[in-house]
Amino acid sequence: MNKRYIVALDQGTTSSRAVIFTPEGKLMASASMEFKQHYPQPGWVEHDPDDILFSQVESLRSAVRKANINPAEIASIGITNQRETTLVWDRESGKCLYNAIVWQCRRTASLVEKIVEEGKSDIITDKTGLIPDAYFSATKIQWILDKLNLHERAEKGELCFGTVDSFLAWNLVKGHPHVTDATNASRTMLYNLRTQSWDDELLKIFNIPRAMLPQVVDTARIIGFLDDEILGVPIPVGAMVGDQQSALFGQACFKTGMAKNTYGTGCFMLMNIGEEFKKSNNRLVTTTAWRLNGKPTYAFEGSIFMGGATVQWLRDELKLISSAPESEEAALSVPDSGGAYLVPAFTGFGAPHWNMYARGTIVGMTRGTNCAQIVRAALESIAYQSKDLLDAMAADLGSLPESLKVDGGASANRFLMQFQSDIMNIKIIRPEVLETTALGAALLAGLAVGMYKSLDEIASVWEAQDEFTPKMKEEDRNLALKGWQRAVRAALYWADDRE
Ligand code: ADP
Repeated sequence: MNKRYIVALDQGTTSSRAVIFTPEGKLMASASMEFKQHYPQPGWVEHDPDDILFSQVESLRSAVRKANINPAEIASIGITNQRETTLVWDRESGKCLYNAIVWQCRRTASLVEKIVEEGKSDIITDKTGLIPDAYFSATKIQWILDKLNLHERAEKGELCFGTVDSFLAWNLVKGHPHVTDATNASRTMLYNLRTQSWDDELLKIFNIPRAMLPQVVDTARIIGFLDDEILGVPIPVGAMVGDQQSALFGQACFKTGMAKNTYGTGCFMLMNIGEEFKKSNNRLVTTTAWRLNGKPTYAFEGSIFMGGATVQWLRDELKLISSAPESEEAALSVPDSGGAYLVPAFTGFGAPHWNMYARGTIVGMTRGTNCAQIVRAALESIAYQSKDLLDAMAADLGSLPESLKVDGGASANRFLMQFQSDIMNIKIIRPEVLETTALGAALLAGLAVGMYKSLDEIASVWEAQDEFTPKMKEEDRNLALKGWQRAVRAALYWADDRE
């Protein structure tokens, strides 16, 4: 049987997806299934592990049916996943001891505060590239062990910890391998990016026994074969990769300085910084982009909390538009925002400003400011925030990239993309396949089974669809950016002046 297809299992925060690609990177079929979010207390978020498994297996079966292919034609499967989400299960029975604690969950904020107060921040950042936060897995594992009094069992090796990639590998691959890949390990706050291994000093800080940790493997490597029960045939599982790193790979950002920005609910920007670990001086995090043949490539990462969500706010709360795409028409109906700036720091500022007390604000309005101008200011705010991230990355790396590759729901907005190009003064490139997260995992899975011989070969598969080039005059850009910086200062002043 000809092994013709590569498949991505894309296990996300609200749904599980399966996407089937041809070796040329063309999307053949996809299927997805949403699952329930559990909010047991304010700020807590959990998933039922059985829901994760069920929705993932069902979406895979459904995608194969839709594509109308014989499963024996699948050459390799790659797993990409919501990162940091934490599961602990019994090594003997495979049963989870607690629900999956989702990356968004804030229950361990006080554990992180304690560690920061003890002066451990610098050691953690120096080794992991991360800024200590409840977001990452370490304090979530600590919480489960403390809450259920499991330290002794964990020490004895009776328990397994895994992020979602690891959990899926254990449950879907024959022989139950207990593995994770270097990109997912990089988000636990227990993994030393410089040595590319679990770190004893970090394990001690969080009081987590090494015996419960998975083996860390390359991002593209056959970890085993899909259980026959799922599709009736054994298929190599050739990759595991965190979702944002997968998108960076799926955008073929293989050279130092290449970057991608995903415009979803929030925005995630990642920049390839090469094969040497670098720490950011601008409060970005460093992460493993991928590890191939034992060799890591690193990336800077920064995120914006309110990306496309700002557009949802216009639609659902202000009711200025009735659908997200309508924002483009409204923005284009006026020549500019009339001097108004919207700073959507509704839940504080992420990178590079990091201020949890900042709140949203609109400044610079006049008696003539109208709805279309507010919509325009909202879209512009997504571009300005992304510009701040790119500047922080460029300052750390010492040069501005020539272009930025984009994907995600809001990258469909042509006004936003043109304004992004204008304000960054670089080319914006939108690919043909916008499912870059899934594509990255599928390409990595193809690499593991020899479907591609090199990254160059994969880069030649990648195709740009649209390009946006800067059209704004330099003086206009400078003026616009000056206004944005003033607006950000206004939002920060509001935060700092609270009593
Ligand atoms: P996620 O994966 O985070 O759910 P998606 O990549 O599906 O996000 O993108 C959805 C987001 O993109 C929503 O917040 C929505 O408001 C925004 N969005 C979708 N289409 C447009 C558009 N044409 N213009 C502006 N924003 C859009």
